[in-house]
Amino acid sequence: MDNAAKNLYSELKDSVGEQNFNTWFHPTRAAAFSGGTLLIQVPSKFYRDWIDSHYGELIVEKARAVFGQPVAISYEITGESPSIELPPETRPEPPPSRSKSITVNLNPKYKFDRFVVGDCNRFAHAATMAVAQAPARAYNPLFIYGGVGLGKTHLMQAAARMALDNHTVSQIIYTSSENFTNDFIHSIANRTTDKFRRKYRKADVLIIDDIHFLAGQVRTQEQLFHTFNALWDAHKQIILSSDRPPKEIQDIEERLISRFEWGLVVDLQPPDRETRIAILRKEAEINGFHVPDEIIYFLADRVKTNIRRLEGALIQAASYASLTNVKLNLNSIEGILAGILDDDIDPQFSIEEIQKKVTEFFDIRIGDIRGSRRPKGIALPRQIAMYLSRSMTAASLKDIGESFGGRDHTTVLHAIKSVEKKTRADRNFANTVRFLEKKIREQHRG
Ligand code: ADP
Ligand code: MG
Repeated sequence: MDNAAKNLYSELKDSVGEQNFNTWFHPTRAAAFSGGTLLIQVPSKFYRDWIDSHYGELIVEKARAVFGQPVAISYEITGESPSIELPPETRPEPPPSRSKSITVNLNPKYKFDRFVVGDCNRFAHAATMAVAQAPARAYNPLFIYGGVGLGKTHLMQAAARMALDNHTVSQIIYTSSENFTNDFIHSIANRTTDKFRRKYRKADVLIIDDIHFLAGQVRTQEQLFHTFNALWDAHKQIILSSDRPPKEIQDIEERLISRFEWGLVVDLQPPDRETRIAILRKEAEINGFHVPDEIIYFLADRVKTNIRRLEGALIQAASYASLTNVKLNLNSIEGILAGILDDDIDPQFSIEEIQKKVTEFFDIRIGDIRGSRRPKGIALPRQIAMYLSRSMTAASLKDIGESFGGRDHTTVLHAIKSVEKKTRADRNFANTVRFLEKKIREQHRG
């Protein structure tokens, strides 16, 4: 198996190129071959979906040659988080005569090495990096969408910087859609629209942030449309971001929307707990803060939907503590952060409400998940109820354990992790959990 797997992977590498191979196949493993089925382990369902849709046929073809028989492929999601390894820089330097330029200053903080990768952003990260390394060769355009504070600007600027540092291209424009609009309006007022056009069409990489702000700007959209076509035809890279997927952007011309979807559309989801903790740790390390673990966990549990706010809470806590000599601990933190934490949690939900909805849904008795006995068929509903209690209320692991028959916090943690893992691996299961959450919210509103 080992040799066959090696041969297969080297065949795949030859076919897809080193870049794609490193991005997509390196984190995977051909784990077993039996009964004509090759089992490939992949770190997440993103990888499975991507590999299967883009390389599924290729793998079947190559595996058939390597194993000398028809081969079916199955995937196993391991849930491990490999770091994405990148190929060494192999491109030649451009001729020295080409001067480099970039139109706005990039935030020095927004680099790939400061971007924490988790399941919420793994795919967007991999795709952006692929594009930054081989502009206009990987995916064009690359369209990144996600809610406020989830890392769109960070990723795009990291791409700009990497393209700049890699010497692969010379003209990189990173701009917000507001600046693009203002620039255009100015050019009309000053009769310099030609100059405006030339400027943007000269780009090797054009990055426009927050494209949804072009809603209703008919003439700017028209300019973008022509710029897009000119760049795309000339094999120049375009990267766009928005707070929602292309189809859902309001008041943007249909022809633009359809172009936004020509390349690759990737999303950024709110970070899961593990990623929130990793981001907090990294931020503390970068700033030289000494923050006790209990505070890291506290923040990770209380600020969930916006990474900017998560970092803000950490910085506020650490600076306040150092200015006032107040010790950072679970007693002082709530006071220090009064005002920051509140709108991210749902203190109005109770564990009891959650238990009630979950048991109704699974048609079991509420006493069963609250009790300490372990009747059959309730392990999963109980885990889901624990998970929702954690994500929808401010209750601690200990509180939750107590509400579920006096279980200890490690049992609760285990339940939460196992639900998180299942939601990643199984779309139906994820939908069930989301459905329950929605029902609980609805019930609460009355
Ligand atoms: P958006 O543009 O989506 O609103 P930003 O890119 O401005 O979000 O990110 C908000 C803040 O969160 C920035 O300080 C950014 O560095 C940080 N951030 C976002 N995602 C990550 C991540 N995965 N790892 C580390 N920091 C992140
Ligand atoms: Mg932004």
